[in-house]
Amino acid sequence: MIIIMEHRATEAQSQKVIDFLKSNGFQVRYNIGEVHTVIDAIGDKTTITPGRLAAFDGVKEVKIIREPFRLASRDRKKEDTVITFSNGVKIGGNNPPVLMAGPCSVEDNYDNLLQVATAVKEVGGQFLRGGAFKPRTSPYDFQGYEEKALKHLKRAGEETGLLVVSELMDASDLPMMIDYVDVLQIGARNVQNFKLLKAVGKVDKPVILKRGLASTIREYLLAAEHIMYNGNPNVILCERGIRSFDSAFTRNVMDIASIPVIKKYSHLPIIVDPSHGTGQKYLIEPMAKAGLVVGADGVMIEVHHDPENALSDGKQSLSIPMFKEVMTRLNEFSNLVRQVV
Ligand code: PEP
Ligand code: MN
Repeated sequence: MIIIMEHRATEAQSQKVIDFLKSNGFQVRYNIGEVHTVIDAIGDKTTITPGRLAAFDGVKEVKIIREPFRLASRDRKKEDTVITFSNGVKIGGNNPPVLMAGPCSVEDNYDNLLQVATAVKEVGGQFLRGGAFKPRTSPYDFQGYEEKALKHLKRAGEETGLLVVSELMDASDLPMMIDYVDVLQIGARNVQNFKLLKAVGKVDKPVILKRGLASTIREYLLAAEHIMYNGNPNVILCERGIRSFDSAFTRNVMDIASIPVIKKYSHLPIIVDPSHGTGQKYLIEPMAKAGLVVGADGVMIEVHHDPENALSDGKQSLSIPMFKEVMTRLNEFSNLVRQVV
């Protein structure tokens, strides 16, 4: 870390910082400039965090040199993390991008879900997604069929040979949910629900961690760090768009650059979700393609057997025929991208 002292900081204030750092095992070099004293400290930031030093009188700024996420960092682990599922499906590294698709919410009709799952399998997908617990802005909106939905999902997964992904909203549901799913999803609204991150850190099941509506990339990787720090290395990141000022044409701003940025700084796999990323059916295909071009390890798409009557997110859900068309082109595109990138 580099600690820059205030212009008016006294020698005693600088010395106090230096002594504190040294007594905590840091190697310290400093430079008393005409305007500012600059202290260069090398040591274990798990004992002394930048925030702690910022509290010392006379400190103007603390700059970090190494990113605060450690387990998620590429510095720590050079090679990409590859997550392998029981059926041999792999995410990350040089493996072909995976497809996770399904309805926003699992509804109360197994055959409708099976229709979607069959289409996902037919186009080469590996994961059936579907919400059983729904984080909704309004309490009057559909909140999810909970365990009944998980039962439908598991059955459809078994019938089609797809792995199952569903969102966990509350740690107290984890024991019930764990055997129904192959991947636990932590939604955008819970990216900084640290108790929930800790809970999924303690289980032996891969986790999809969605980017928060207002997460910086650093905050996002620190959220992943919470899961890893608690013992679960199998985190899949998911760019699903962030809030910005123009929602007239898109629901969110899908931050395509976050994918190569995250690939540079982290070894974790990252997928894209152009359904929530844009909120528009017609943008799913181009933004999924954009994600693949910049190195996404997979795509998540919302598909519904009858979008006009969906209980949630019908506007951004592809119908089954549209989904099949989009996926035919996307699969072709993905093969091309893999030949040239
Ligand atoms: C979802 O995938 O259904 C969902 C609610 O996503 P997000 O948390 O990204 O809004
Ligand atoms: Mn949705």
